Amino acid sequence: WFDEIGAQPPIEVFEMNKAFLDDTDPIKVSLGIGAFRTEEGKPWVLPVVKQAEKAIVEDPAMNFEYLPILGLESFTNAATRMLVGADSAAWQEKRAFGVQSISGTGALRIAADFLSTVVPNITKIVYISNPTWENHRLLFLLAGFNEVREYRYWDAQKRGLDLQGLVEDLHAAPERSVVILHACAHNPTGVDPTQEQWKKIVEVVKERKLFPVLDSAYQGFASGDPDADAWAVRYFVSQGVEFVCAQSFAKNFGLYNQRVGNLTVVTNNAATIPNLKSQLTIVVRGNYSNPPAHGARIVSAVLNDPTLTEQWKGHIQTMSGRMKAMRGLLREKLEALKTPGSWKHLTDQIGMFAYTGLTVKQCQFLIDRHHIYLLKSGRINVCGISPKNVDHVSKAIYEAVTT
Ligand code: PLP
Repeated sequence: WFDEIGAQPPIEVFEMNKAFLDDTDPIKVSLGIGAFRTEEGKPWVLPVVKQAEKAIVEDPAMNFEYLPILGLESFTNAATRMLVGADSAAWQEKRAFGVQSISGTGALRIAADFLSTVVPNITKIVYISNPTWENHRLLFLLAGFNEVREYRYWDAQKRGLDLQGLVEDLHAAPERSVVILHACAHNPTGVDPTQEQWKKIVEVVKERKLFPVLDSAYQGFASGDPDADAWAVRYFVSQGVEFVCAQSFAKNFGLYNQRVGNLTVVTNNAATIPNLKSQLTIVVRGNYSNPPAHGARIVSAVLNDPTLTEQWKGHIQTMSGRMKAMRGLLREKLEALKTPGSWKHLTDQIGMFAYTGLTVKQCQFLIDRHHIYLLKSGRINVCGISPKNVDHVSKAIYEAVTT
């Protein structure tokens, strides 16, 4: 059975993280994997998460019974409310609900399976931004989509959004195609549309009858305020657009390996919800039957308690503040070294990632010569920068650019 099977290429970001972990040089720096790091380069367990977890494990009533197929309701409700806003029409009119998922990736897969097998007359063509998080393509192809098309997003010349290209490409899309849009803190570019630009995007989505799959993996990381970061999602709601949105709690709760996610569904007709839930039940049942409980219990405990929610918002400020500070510091050092080119984009971009504009060769040079690990696209996780390593990193980038 197996002799004829060849190998697939490795997944770059995980391969790179392994290379980083295996590297024994103390000077090494990880700018690869998308996880928050403290100034000491260490993972951070959010204090509010620790506190909530302690109460959960010490609760004598806690057990390991199966969750319902669609997940822990106190969690899915809280997650959905956090996204669309308690004052939104969709929430008030009970037109929005959530399905618990295996983190953001699992939410996207539920969305892809649901669109591919349940929603009538979908073209099975999905549009993804160029560039995007590399897993979007694979997820939709494995769910039975026939074609993945890219829409223009990144303008390398101006190191910003190519709105005209984006709108043109979506305009040319066949009706009833699917379009994936990053809700905030676009990965990998760190460039989001402005509110005016979102309005144009929503216009073309409506005009071409495209089905939006929003991907919200970083709510809170763009501006430091989870409500402000949900602006685009809430604008879709306000315009009466039906959509699904994949939410990840990996980054904004630091619950990476707990795999906590939610697929929010917004419909214009609350009467459709029982049928939608029954269909989504089949999708989940046929994939993994029901989700894990621990991480969802933690998020639920935090989001359903105003005091804990405030504490969590403080942690979001801490994390996004550190990202912002490190962008500024790296730019300052590169400019002080008179590194050729403009480095303004480092501070114009937002969120966890900076799209540096470094070439594949320059990235390889940083890895091979300076033990600085980053993706070949030139994407860096700014949390990997610290006041202790920024001189090393900026001098290495200077060398990469000038040799
Ligand atoms: N979507 C985007 C844009 C991402 O960057 C990521 C993670 O890097 C995800 C979704 C899913 O992450 P997870 O499955 O860890 O929640």
